Amino acid sequence: MDENTLVYVIAAVVIGGVMLPFILRMKQQERNAEIATIEAKEAGLDEPATMHPVVDPERCISTGSCIDVCPEGDVLVLKNGQATPIQPACCIGHGLCERACPVDAIQLVFGTAKRGVDLPRIKQNFETNVPGLYIVGELAGMGLIRNAFEQGKQVVDGILKEGSRSREAGAADLLVIGCGPAGLATSLFAMENGLGLKTIEREDIGGTVRLFPRKKLVMTHPLFVPGYGRLTGPEIQKERLMDLWGEIVHKAGLKVNTQEGANSVVPRDGGFDVLTPLGQYRAKRVIIAIGRRGTPRRLGVPGEELPKVLYNLSEAEAFTNDHIMIVGGGDSAIEAAIALAEQPGNRVTISYRQDKFARIKPANRDRITAAIDKGAVEVLWNTTLQEITPTEVRYRDRSGTDTVVRNDAAFIFAGGELPTAFLKSCGVQIDTKFGAPR
Ligand SMILES: Cc1cc2nc3c(=O)[nH]c(=O)nc-3n(C[C@H](O)[C@H](O)[C@H](O)COP(=O)(O)OP(=O)(O)OC[C@H]3O[C@@H](n4cnc5c(N)ncnc54)[C@H](O)[C@@H]3O)c2cc1C
Repeated sequence: MDENTLVYVIAAVVIGGVMLPFILRMKQQERNAEIATIEAKEAGLDEPATMHPVVDPERCISTGSCIDVCPEGDVLVLKNGQATPIQPACCIGHGLCERACPVDAIQLVFGTAKRGVDLPRIKQNFETNVPGLYIVGELAGMGLIRNAFEQGKQVVDGILKEGSRSREAGAADLLVIGCGPAGLATSLFAMENGLGLKTIEREDIGGTVRLFPRKKLVMTHPLFVPGYGRLTGPEIQKERLMDLWGEIVHKAGLKVNTQEGANSVVPRDGGFDVLTPLGQYRAKRVIIAIGRRGTPRRLGVPGEELPKVLYNLSEAEAFTNDHIMIVGGGDSAIEAAIALAEQPGNRVTISYRQDKFARIKPANRDRITAAIDKGAVEVLWNTTLQEITPTEVRYRDRSGTDTVVRNDAAFIFAGGELPTAFLKSCGVQIDTKFGAPR
């Protein structure tokens, strides 16, 4: 071997030694991405219902920074040398990927070419096409608690600039519909600025956050809460956040009419009539902050009006030694089943009309599989609920055979009907987005 050849051989060995582990790691990453893509497809997580990232392949330079910053797991992975959304259905709109991309290759969009998403048309100050009627929070298109609080402040600031007072006797300056993060923030900022306020909430203060799984760590990012100050930690446990909001509401003296939902909002004589099942209110301006969860879809079976039938689970601890039927196969149904099965003495059964769970998060899939394997949860595949009585439920299998089982509580997770019809009835213009930004 001459000297030159020896140099080439040594160089090849050194470069190979350095490069080989890198190449092997890349290959492994590609294989993992391929498997994750197949699993996401099987789980139905490749079809987003609302906001999600899209990557411009011409711009992506594969830094992977978008993947590292996403707190929701495998929304994006590196595949074929590019950031690729494989579980866009798990995106909840943090937008961190968009901000982390050094070459602006990522954009958050609503809907897909196949599946449109309805969004109310709003101006920069959150006012809709109906003068005096505003929409904030998730319903306006921006999720997250931090955004909800920022929007609450912005909408109140805007209204204060426009001249906010109602001259009509008995009319509020502002009526806020919904008291999740967006309605709460709007109400607190309005109170802080001395506006005459009425807040109504169909369920209870806290909105979607109230329904998060127990002990969930909620990402809040630094946010300013009126009457409290800056909430600095990047995350806070759900229960602590709910307690904190309770304390702030109490300290501020904010009165919220809970268990009172708005049925209609009618513009009249320079103000609005807001109708609820319990009364009628008058206000100069109305802020709609009702989120995108919508109204729980009902099954329409006899007995659904019984008090033991519920459409969400906030306190699993309230149920012990109970025979519980859960209807549905999405993440909410699975999370409720697991939480209830952890309580002493419960017998938890899921009735699902399909033969496998689709569109659930991988972590929930693992947890429910483990719960089924150890007998903590039973699943009645291919069944539909037919009737609920005070002590039993009746379900039907695919062959048409009915079975009656003992029952103390029934939870129905059959999805929600978006508030589009409500908004249209208020005169709000709706745009359907097919993979477009706000
Ligand atoms: C599983 C999950 C995890 C999440 N994790 C995080 C996180 O870690 N960090 C984060 O920042 N965000 C998170 N989010 C998003 C966050 O929960 C939402 O962005 C936020 O709750 C939106 O606030 P909102 O006030 O607009 O709507 P909502 O929270 O949905 O509140 C709307 C309120 O309006 C009420 N309402 C509805 N209709 C009527 C009516 N007709 N009359 C009166 N009241 C009505 C409802 O009862 C509800 O209380 C998560 C969401 C989900 C689903």
